[in-house]
Amino acid sequence: ESISQLIDRLAAVVPDYPEPGVSFKDLTPVFADPVGFRRIVDSIVDPFRGTFDLIAGLEARGFILASAAAYATGTGMLTIRKKGKLPREILAESYQLEYGEATLEVQRDDIPSGTRVLVLDDVLATGGTLNASTKLIERAGGVVVGIGVVMELEDLGGRGRLPGRHIHSLSAV
Ligand code: IMP
Repeated sequence: ESISQLIDRLAAVVPDYPEPGVSFKDLTPVFADPVGFRRIVDSIVDPFRGTFDLIAGLEARGFILASAAAYATGTGMLTIRKKGKLPREILAESYQLEYGEATLEVQRDDIPSGTRVLVLDDVLATGGTLNASTKLIERAGGVVVGIGVVMELEDLGGRGRLPGRHIHSLSAV
């Protein structure tokens, strides 16, 4: 079974969540499966092995992947958080959601200058979240070596918002 077949088999699709017309991809059954979780963590870092010093996870589902991947590869983990959670000096990036705005933050001195960072999240949709995250890492002095996601929602055009990035998605719908 290929990694994309495994994700297709285990992921749940929830129609009209969180609002009518949206088809939400719920990856919690992939995380809950012992074989599935190990395979997505190993596969998501595979093309980037040896190229990064730190793995960034985006709150909250990105934390699950980044923490396991950092442990598995013997690197450290960086948390990119929603507004107002980090206690020390932060950098912030706001971006548009379909309705309203979101803000992500990182602690500047959690990223020593020149650190090579791999960024992980569960789903690439419009790309706004990953675009804000890569900007934050670069503003703090880090170098983004790549982006890994479990699933890419191709119709939403997220790749177009992340030009020049090395993006590795384990499955596409
Ligand atoms: P984007 O900023 O539009 O690319 O949305 C990506 C963010 O929203 C990620 O942090 C995802 O966790 C979340 N997201 C968007 N759509 C889905 C979905 O269908 N399933 C799970 N998470 C989603």
